[in-house]
Amino acid sequence: MQKRKVVLLGSTGSIGTSTLKVASEIPERLEIVALAANSSVESLAAQARETGVKHVALYDDSKESELRAALPEDVKVHLGAEGLLEIATLAEADMVLVAIVGTAGLQPALAAIEAGKDLAVASKEILVMAGELVMDAAARKGVNVLPVDSEHNAIFQCLNGHQGGEKEVSRLILTASGGPFRQTPKEDLKNVTLAQALKHPTWDMGRKITIDSSTLFNKGLEMIEARWLFGIEMERIDVIVHPQSIVHSMVEYIDGSVLAQMSNTDMCFPIQYAVTWPDRVPGGLKPLNFAELAKLEFEAPRYDDFPALNLARKAGEVGGTLPAVYNAANEVAVDAFCEGKIGYLDIAKIVGEVMDAHAVKHADDLQILIDADAAARECASARINSQSP
Ligand code: NDP
Repeated sequence: MQKRKVVLLGSTGSIGTSTLKVASEIPERLEIVALAANSSVESLAAQARETGVKHVALYDDSKESELRAALPEDVKVHLGAEGLLEIATLAEADMVLVAIVGTAGLQPALAAIEAGKDLAVASKEILVMAGELVMDAAARKGVNVLPVDSEHNAIFQCLNGHQGGEKEVSRLILTASGGPFRQTPKEDLKNVTLAQALKHPTWDMGRKITIDSSTLFNKGLEMIEARWLFGIEMERIDVIVHPQSIVHSMVEYIDGSVLAQMSNTDMCFPIQYAVTWPDRVPGGLKPLNFAELAKLEFEAPRYDDFPALNLARKAGEVGGTLPAVYNAANEVAVDAFCEGKIGYLDIAKIVGEVMDAHAVKHADDLQILIDADAAARECASARINSQSP
């Protein structure tokens, strides 16, 4: 029985706090050895005191003295982007769990792989931006990349050691709850407010991913994430809306048999499976009561009303720098929507425009991706500013 020593990047967020809950429930299997956050000093310090870690990293170095004052003296503080790299490569760790929202976790993830650590990935943005680089580096170093995202964790379980190659697998089928606007008429979508977009019907998550779930950009990001995680072409990745969020995703094999992973919605489960894999251990999942559930529904996504899916398919098929552009433009557009600068439907419109304006490059180098990401952000901001009142 292996006990994993894990560095937790993004510990103060939704996935981060669930991971700490899992660690407290299975201390014989999971020990958190370092924590990192952006600027939530109070929560980070409280987590450090509670877990007894000896290393914490804070991205926002302007809060250094505040953090030091709140920590026991024997805790080492690592600061800024460099600090994240330091804890991602800590000698005593054997796994790094990346739960930083956005792409700030990419360089720490690559550094962790180079240092021979297994990776558990919640931050889908890093696989969307640089999936090929991350997976190539992991294969070269012989380290595992374990999916925390519930859909990919489900597919990982259904593959059960099989590869995604077309000799065995015909399709991966990602399920989507459909979000809060699954049945909202097209003409009403333009009036969607921030408060409405922040109400997810089945999952309790951080702010960015909740908005992404409502626009279906989250599912688009997951399509590209699956493409790299499982080494499968985009045309063999499908999406089906499943409002109950009980089937977390499926794998269709070449003989027509479909395996599905089902459970109640609780992010602690995929986190636990990622950190204890290949073992299964007892956990806090409430068992499914099929008689009470009575029915599981499935329906086709509304591709025309939620353009995020077709844009993702295009980005994944074209590849190169386009997935990074899809992700970066979406991040900027979501921020602008949250700040009231643009309307709800403008999010997808801006992403589409930024993708159209982008000259795609081959993405065999991290700097090319970083440049594409920066250019997409600039282009998205310019478009937002040109249409803001
Ligand atoms: P939250 O917004 O709840 O938390 C984000 C975390 O990232 C916080 O700890 C934040 O610190 C930290 N952070 C942000 N920027 C930096 C930085 N530059 N350096 C260090 N830490 C940083 O997000 P979620 O937990 O919801 O999501 C995290 C990731 O997991 C996302 O990529 C999301 O798509 C993915 N995911 C989330 C799921 C969920 O159920 N929530 C499900 C599947 C995937 P601070 O508090 O200081 O700002």
